[in-house]
Amino acid sequence: MVFDFLMTDDQLKLRDEARDMAKSVPRDYILDMDADKIKYPKEFMQECGRRNLLGLRVPKEYGGRGLKWEDDIIAAEEICVNGYMFGCAWGVTGDVVAEALMSFGNEEQKKKYLTPICRGEKYAAECLTEPRGGSDFFGATTTARRDGDDFILNGQKRFIVGGEGADFFLVYAKTDPEARSDQSLTCFIVDRDMGVRTEYLYGLMGCRGGGTARVVFRDVRVPKENVVGEINGAAKVFYPMMIPERLGTAAMTIGAARPALEIATDYSTKRKAFGTAIKDFEAVSFKVADAVMKLDACRSLMYTTARAIDSGTVSSGRCRRMVSEGKKFVTEQCWDIANLAMQVMGGIGYTDVYPIEKILRDLRLSMIWVGTNEIMSLITQHEWYRERAAEKKDARRRDSENDCRAAFEADEKIYE
Ligand SMILES: Cc1cc2nc3c(=O)[nH]c(=O)nc-3n(C[C@H](O)[C@H](O)[C@H](O)COP(=O)(O)OP(=O)(O)OC[C@H]3O[C@@H](n4cnc5c(N)ncnc54)[C@H](O)[C@@H]3O)c2cc1C
Repeated sequence: MVFDFLMTDDQLKLRDEARDMAKSVPRDYILDMDADKIKYPKEFMQECGRRNLLGLRVPKEYGGRGLKWEDDIIAAEEICVNGYMFGCAWGVTGDVVAEALMSFGNEEQKKKYLTPICRGEKYAAECLTEPRGGSDFFGATTTARRDGDDFILNGQKRFIVGGEGADFFLVYAKTDPEARSDQSLTCFIVDRDMGVRTEYLYGLMGCRGGGTARVVFRDVRVPKENVVGEINGAAKVFYPMMIPERLGTAAMTIGAARPALEIATDYSTKRKAFGTAIKDFEAVSFKVADAVMKLDACRSLMYTTARAIDSGTVSSGRCRRMVSEGKKFVTEQCWDIANLAMQVMGGIGYTDVYPIEKILRDLRLSMIWVGTNEIMSLITQHEWYRERAAEKKDARRRDSENDCRAAFEADEKIYE
């Protein structure tokens, strides 16, 4: 893997641990998930917990390893080589929900929910998307009405990984319908046994076996102790979660695409056409070259992004831009990589004799979930325009606009 040379000894050890975890999963387990025979990968999550590979960034006192994003994405890539849904279940519980509890949970919540996550004893789901839409998150219509010391939840969430299988849910619900939308939501921990109902399991194109379901709340009573952060303050929880969601997804996507490149490379050295190994045709080996280049570029961007976030010195706007453009770039490149691999394989790549078709089915989700790639562009342009406006005020920078012959032809510089 390119970038091994940038890793510390501890990071190399972590990579090998995660690699070993992925390798330990029986082939039948992967096939049973894809066949929807396994509804949620509980045994896999338990084993990750046993090996202390869940919630890597959680402080040691709560059962994690107290690591950084740069470490986390190394593990995420390796965990995902078994299939995208392994990473989804691992990341939703150990990265996203753990991050919310770590950053905004109180002491009691951390002991009750965070430590069991790290031990692989409790599995979590994150509930943002509703049937009415996922992109317009703040338009959520699930309500939480105050009733004494409790809240009464009503509504439903859609496409929830772990909808079947999770023990508790991080749910965003409307607590002040009259307020500005970004001040109207509260984030709750809702235990399944408080009355959460899983009413529909989706038939998915790929990424099966993760319990992706519609979950319904009908008069579910949640004590106020289960509010994460402040009442009506869900925005504060939601925005920082974009890092685990999108950085994590990008790293996972790299891991999920990597086997396609490896399999296609090996195939091209063995498969012959016109009496010669197909890798000897530039049309084939250049596809492999393009795929390698794309994978390396993806890693490069994500490691830079992780370092930017870990440094604590890069503005939140810049970090938001980097994770958003990174998520879009990586997921699109990895989709290309899987397609290039399938093309290299010819007809057999389109069958289940090789896992390329499954990888392709799985990978398609990456461009849709945790915010569609269109929403990634929306955020990227927004942050970039702000950055550019600030840059222009910096007199030390060269203004390149006038580096051309007719730069001062005022009558030609018409903007309206
Ligand atoms: C397998 C799977 C697992 C998932 N897991 C989870 C989960 O665990 N938890 C969770 O909460 N959600 C989950 N999701 C939901 C996912 O995050 C949403 O599907 C996604 O955010 C898009 O929401 P939507 O499907 O409602 O599409 P919509 O929001 O209806 O968007 C439809 C189209 O319009 C475009 N669009 C919308 N608004 C804009 C805009 N302002 N500018 C440009 N284009 C726009 C979108 O990009 C998209 O192309 C999962 C989805 C799937 C399929």
